[in-house]
Formats: sequence, structure tokens, C-alpha cells
Amino acid sequence: MEDKALTILNSVFGYSEFRHHQKEIIKQVINGNDAVVLMPTGGGKSLCYQIPAMVRGGTGIVVSPLIALMQDQVVALQQLGVQAAFLNSTLSASTANDIEQQLLRGELDLLYVAPERLMTERFLSLLARASLALFAIDEAHCVSQWGHDFRPEYIQLSVLHQRFPNIPRIALTATADEPTRREIIQRLSLEKAHLFVSSFDRPNICYRISQTHSSNARDQLYRFILNEHENDAGIVYCLSRKKVEQTAQWLSAKGLTALPYHAGLPVDVRQANQQRFLTEEQVIIVATIAFGMGIDKPDVRFVAHLNLPKSIEAYYQETGRAGRDGQPANAWMMYGLQDVITLKKMMESSDADEAHKRIEHHKLQSMLGFSELTTCRRQALLKYFSDNLDKPCGNCDTCITPVETWDATEVAQKALSCVYKTNQRFGVNYLIDVLMGKEHARIKQFGHDKLSVYGIGKQTDAKQWRSIFRQLIARNLLAVDMEGFGNLLLTEQCRPVLRGEQTLMLRKESKQEKARQRGRKHNTNIKESDKTLWEALRACRKTLADEKGVPPYVIFHDAALMEMVERQPQTQQQFSKITGVGEKKLKAYADDFLKIIQQYSLSTASTPTDTVDETLQLLRSGLQVEAIAQQRNLKTTTIYNHLAQAIESGHVGLQQVVELSEADIKTIQNALSAFSDGSRKLKPVYDALDGTFDYHLLRCVQASLEVN
Ligand code: ADP
Ligand code: ZN
Repeated sequence: MEDKALTILNSVFGYSEFRHHQKEIIKQVINGNDAVVLMPTGGGKSLCYQIPAMVRGGTGIVVSPLIALMQDQVVALQQLGVQAAFLNSTLSASTANDIEQQLLRGELDLLYVAPERLMTERFLSLLARASLALFAIDEAHCVSQWGHDFRPEYIQLSVLHQRFPNIPRIALTATADEPTRREIIQRLSLEKAHLFVSSFDRPNICYRISQTHSSNARDQLYRFILNEHENDAGIVYCLSRKKVEQTAQWLSAKGLTALPYHAGLPVDVRQANQQRFLTEEQVIIVATIAFGMGIDKPDVRFVAHLNLPKSIEAYYQETGRAGRDGQPANAWMMYGLQDVITLKKMMESSDADEAHKRIEHHKLQSMLGFSELTTCRRQALLKYFSDNLDKPCGNCDTCITPVETWDATEVAQKALSCVYKTNQRFGVNYLIDVLMGKEHARIKQFGHDKLSVYGIGKQTDAKQWRSIFRQLIARNLLAVDMEGFGNLLLTEQCRPVLRGEQTLMLRKESKQEKARQRGRKHNTNIKESDKTLWEALRACRKTLADEKGVPPYVIFHDAALMEMVERQPQTQQQFSKITGVGEKKLKAYADDFLKIIQQYSLSTASTPTDTVDETLQLLRSGLQVEAIAQQRNLKTTTIYNHLAQAIESGHVGLQQVVELSEADIKTIQNALSAFSDGSRKLKPVYDALDGTFDYHLLRCVQASLEVN
């Protein structure tokens, strides 16, 4: 049975190995046991029930709360040749009826159903007459009453266990926290289920947060998109509908395709915008948090926040929508002091009870602390979810550009005294004016120009003062009065600083967002010289997608196209090795893509010298090295020499010439750098590797390191 799972992974999905706990989870479910699966977004949860449903007899019933998500998954499965269907309110009665008949006849591997339909007596009795493989409960955190995605129908799902005690159940979620996990287990009666918890790290996402005065946040956003994501899909989150509209308009005026999405728009506009986001390739959605759940688009390359999210959970969930395909992605945020005040006011004016409000304020405070960190963001993020990362990650802004700190004890004392002397009744702007000794009527009217703090902060400019106040709030030395008008209050924690018993180190504001240059390198995986091929492959994918009426990523993910660019497969056999190419897609698409790659290879193969050229042509026509040697009546060593030259001049990729695993390549590279004496002699390297790799392999790897 487990062999069968692996065969399906290879031949249907086109993937070579299982990820995270997929293998154990699949085994568990195939054997008829229950499982609770916690895996981050993009971790690969779907396979955990799709494969068991295909291996076990009968149909796998998948409960999913979101219609869009259901349709996406079913379309993608059908593309792979899997018998999948969905039942929800968008179908006509007769189509729904057809699908029910297919279920009863045992023709479906997977059936996706909305929870409210599943729980009807009619449907349950239909299920009782069908042969069932398993129940998968997707987005299982929807049972949690405290969570933001609560679905009352989810609570009733425990009925499944009572009605079908022998059918294995698997509940899946990307929500990491402990209370939600407990609730899932308890409410769905999954006490006996095996629990699988994966790390919640999303290593391909680069976390970057900067602080700004709101007026130039938009400019910075635009520059970020232009520099790093000019041709990419992305999501921009804003706090209010108005800001969503304004930002979308502003970006559109700059020539980008930016569409608004918020609950205040008519349903058809919202749907049309979402549809364009899914089916076109370079659309930016500007949204309130209402957008995102159920958006399964794997190639969202960036998520930008123009405001502070209200909690670390929300930040993690929203940024998590970037890079589901595992390719590099950016989580970029820009926020200012005003956000804190606005959010606090919003929380205060909500009709939640006091206990709830306190939790919300606490969560916001944690988010603020996270934003002002001077150490690795990923470590802090994972720690927040009781996960652990031993070393700084190297892929967040504070790792890439370490934050400088400075001793701010004295200025902090000035700021705090100013709050105290003005009786904790004023907001940031007023306090800064007093500190800077501004002359205006209000200050005079209150007599604050007579205070000892008046004008004592002239050496510091207004921008710096804002940064200082923001950090004092983030560190809980000052609090924003929730009932008042954003006036600042002293907290218990500020006493030691005021009394001079504690030094306070604050972060220095960087002038520019320095992570940019580095971040950019992370994101352009495609070399300039390969851009033509990349664009041609993308265009081919788009044409096929339009013909079939599916989003481009359903044809192939970016990762697959990227591999095509790297390896430039020339034959069906070589094409079948690309990640994500299973039997069905090989048959359906290989020819179209191979044609483009072959054309490209030919068009770029004109510069090498004639004999190298000839060898290269033969290789591209699909011949192995031995066969080329035979045909040309040359020694294989000579052919390898030609190919090494071609590799070095960038006309062919290493992987197209030699069959070496990534690990082997790494080993050889290491040996080359450790033992080369600058002369390119390979004997010492060959010896150091105990003759494990032939000279021609070493030569080719060496050539690949010299590509110019
Ligand atoms: P989740 O539901 O956990 O967010 P998905 O199930 O949508 O994640 O999987 C995320 C992406 O990873 C999908 O494109 C999926 O095809 C791919 N994927 C899943 N498992 C594997 C695997 N073992 N090898 C390669 N890619 C995988
Ligand atoms: Zn880091």
C-alpha cells in the first residue's frame, strides 16, 4: 500500500519525494487511522488526504469551507487525471444529481463538499449508501469559536464519527496555536488521532519591516514593487476600505495592474477582481484583511502591509499567502505610529467584552514589539508559536542588515518627563512640539512654554522624535490612552528609566530600506540571458491555461518552468523528470513546451566553435555522450571536453550534460574549491574524492563554476 502511495506521488503528481510528515500521515490514514495535521501554508497538506483517498477503495470526502478553494483543487486534480468533483451551492440541481450518482457508483476518488450540505440528513444518508475511503476536514481551525474563521457548521462535524465510526478521519490546519489545536481535537472527537506537527517556518519568505510616516509609505511600496516585483503577482493589505481604494488607484496610475478588494464592493466586482488575480499573472490585489482565505494561488511573490496587522497571528497568516510554491517571496511591511493609535481606537470602540479587549490589546502590543525587534524576526516569530530556530535565519531584514542601536536613555527621559509634566493629556504631535520648543498658541494657552521640558529636545528632529515615541510605546514604557484621543500615558515599566536606573537602547532608524539590494538578489532566480526562454514558456503556459479556462499555475507552477529553463530538457524522457510533471501532464503538455525549448536552444547555439557546436546539436537532439562519440567517431573524453567548453560559455547547463544529484555536485564543488591550486589541475581533486567521480564529471562541474 505504501509503495502505491509513492507510485502515485511520482506518476500522478510528478513529485519525487514526500515532504515534512507527508509519508507518515499518508501511511496512518491508508491504514484506517485518524490523524490531526498541523502544517504551515504551502507545506503540502492536500496530498495527505488526496493520496490515501486514491489508494483506499471508495471515495474520499473532503469538507472545505470555501467554494473558491474547492473549485481550484478539483480543477487541478482533474488536470492530473484524478476523478474529483465538488458539490456546493454554485451547481445546478441536475449537475449535483449527476455527481451524487457518480459517488454512488464508486466513480470518484475525491468529492469536495461544503459543510452545510454535508450535515444535511439527506446527504448523510446518501453517504451511508456509498463506499467511503476517508473524511478529510480541511481548515479544521474553523471549529474554533475564538478564532477569526469560526464556522458554526464545523461544530457538528463530530457527527461523522458517530455515523461512520470505521471511516478514517483526517483534520488539517495551518493555524499553529495550542488552544486551537486542543479545540479541534476535542470538538471533532479526535482524541485517538495521531497528531502530526510540522515546523511552522516558511524559510522561503523573507520578512522585512520598516517604519515610516504614512505619507511616503506609498512611494516606498511603489519602489519596492518596481525594484523587486515588477512582473509579479502580490497582495497589498491596508486597514481601511478607503485606503484600499486610494492605494489601488494610485498604483494603477503608476502603470501597475492593481485591483481593490474589500467587503464594501459589490459582489460581482469583488469576484471579477479575484478572478483576474487568479488567472492573470501580474495582478496586484489591494485588500483589507477580508481577502485571502481560500486563495490558493501558489505564485504570490509578495505580501505587503501598509498598516500594522492587529496581531502576530494575523501577520503570520497574511504573510503566509506569499510563496506557497516554495519559491522565494517577500513579506514587506511599512507602518507608523498612527497605525497603533488607529488600531487601539478601533479595538476600544468594538463591542467586545472587557476580557476580549484586553487580549486584543495584548496581541497588538506583541505585534508592535515584533515590528521593533533588533534581532532575527524569524526566530521571534517561531518562538511566538512555541517553535524553535537555533540560529538567526539569514533571510529577514535584521539578519541581512543588522540593526544599529544607540543609548537613548537621556532622550527617553526627556520624552517621558514631557508626558508627565503635561499631565498625560496629549498626543505625540503636541508632545514633540513642546520638546522642540515650537511656538504656537495652544502651547502658550496651556502655559507649557513655561515648563522645564519646553525646548529641551531641539537637537533631535521631529522624525527622530516620532521614532523614539513609537519605540517607547512598543516597549510598553508609554501607553496610548484607549478612552481618550490618543493621548499618551506613563506605564509602570517606565519608572526605572525615568529614575535613571536602567539604560535604554533603541534602534537607529536606517535612512533607506537597505535590505532592498539583497532582497532583490533573492528574488530574481532567472538569469538575464534566460529571460527570453522564461518569457516564452510563460506565454505558452498562459495560452494553454486560457484554452482550458484554468489559472496558469494549474498547468505548471513557476518552479516547474524555472526547472525547464535550468535543465532545458530536449526529450520526453528528460521532460518527465521536471518536478510537477506526472504522466497526464507529460502527455498533455510536453510537446508544446519541448518545442519552445528546442527552438530556444537552437537559436542560442550559434556562437560556439564548429566542433563544439556539432557535439552540442547532437546532445540537444537527445543523444547520450557515448552515442555522440560513436557518431562523430571521436573519443568520449573529447566529447566531454566539448561539453565542458559549452558549459563554461553558458550554452548548456551542467544538468543537461551529466546525471549527478545535487548532493554529488555539492561534494565535487567543495573538493574543487578545497584542492584547486589555481591551475585547474584535476588530479588532486580526483584523489581527494578517492576516484569516486570520473575526470569528465569533475571537468564539467569545474566548467559550471566558471560560467561567465
Ligand atoms: P497547503 O494546503 O498545506 O497550503 P498544498 O497542499 O497546496 O499546501 O501544497 C503546496 C504546494 O506544494 C502545492 O503546489 C503542492 O503541489 C506542492 N507539494 C506538495 N507536496 C509536495 C511534494 N512532496 N513534493 C513537491 N511539491 C509538493
Ligand atoms: Zn532572521
